[in-house]
Amino acid sequence: MQVPFTDLKSQNNVIREEALSSIADIIDNSSFILGKAVTDFESAFAEEHEVKHCIAVSSGTDANHLALWAQDIKSGDEVIMPANTFIATAWGATLCGAKPVFADCHGKSYNIDPEKIEEKITDKTKAVVAVHLYGQTADLDPIREITERKNILLIEDAAQSHIALYKGKKAGGLSSAASFSFYPGKNLGAFGEGGAVTTNDDELAQRIRMLRDHGSDKKYYHKYYGHNYRMEGIQGAALGLKLKHLETWTEKRRAAAAKYSELLRGTERIILPEEMEYGKHVYHLYVIRIKEREQLQKYLNASGISTGLHYPVPLHLQECFKELGYCKKDFPNSESLADECLSLPMFPGISDEQISYVSDKIKHFLKG
Ligand SMILES: *Cc1c(COP(=O)(O)O)cnc(C)c1O
Repeated sequence: MQVPFTDLKSQNNVIREEALSSIADIIDNSSFILGKAVTDFESAFAEEHEVKHCIAVSSGTDANHLALWAQDIKSGDEVIMPANTFIATAWGATLCGAKPVFADCHGKSYNIDPEKIEEKITDKTKAVVAVHLYGQTADLDPIREITERKNILLIEDAAQSHIALYKGKKAGGLSSAASFSFYPGKNLGAFGEGGAVTTNDDELAQRIRMLRDHGSDKKYYHKYYGHNYRMEGIQGAALGLKLKHLETWTEKRRAAAAKYSELLRGTERIILPEEMEYGKHVYHLYVIRIKEREQLQKYLNASGISTGLHYPVPLHLQECFKELGYCKKDFPNSESLADECLSLPMFPGISDEQISYVSDKIKHFLKG
């Protein structure tokens, strides 16, 4: 049996006909940049996430940058974030000229440990970026207690957590601004690059809108320094169509995760993902941990099962951050996660047979 890591084709097939006709409309109207498809998607995405504003942009990385840039993060500032995340979280800070400061993750949620934040705060700290990794939110209340007391910003990187819940509330509206990615493989994916920033703050939303479009809200009049971070019309159209399926697709991911956990629970030498009591996990990734990770990955691959590593090198040990002076053992939880993590095939529509096959192969590997 072949089990792919993800399957975009079956997802795309659901919207194929409607998407082709929306794309034809965009071509006929030459509405290639922003336009009605994008503004319609922005309203629908904001409504789905119970947040006032959604500003659609060119990628999740650009959304990371805008969320910080629009809140005046600049050279000389420090931004605290987890050591275990995708590199783009850090680009949000570096693109503003600011310094990323890493903190270790919690041993169960794998998200930034609220107890490891305060020791990283200096008089240069301007923000904490809480990443909702793998589809589960960070524990935001204790983090917010710190950021409010220290008078610094709290920002969410929700690139992997569309419609995840924290204490019954949707990710994306729980901080001053949140960034989302619509990279094709994300839980909500475009037909190319895409991202968004969400916020409940009217003034900040207006500023983000202008920074996205050359610092302007009137053509050729530029109030701020800006950039071109606009979303393309075709992406807005694809995302608007896919958004209607997001809840169903998310429930399918949750059902697949429940099936894996049922079949693998109690298996020695592997650690399963845990859904924290505070939230609802949307399983962008189903990440197990095992000391013999390399061998298991090879064994599964030889059995026709594709897996992934998210992520094999924590940010504090990346070559590009050498000059920041971190060393091995600085963040034990993030480092053991990097050594032991293995992402199993996960996509809406993965069959019970495929999940059973993967689980059987894992158990067989552990016996052998
Ligand atoms: C995917 C991702 C991003 C970047 O998104 P792109 O759309 O690929 O630029 C940022 N942060 C996290 C946590 C991600 O997973």
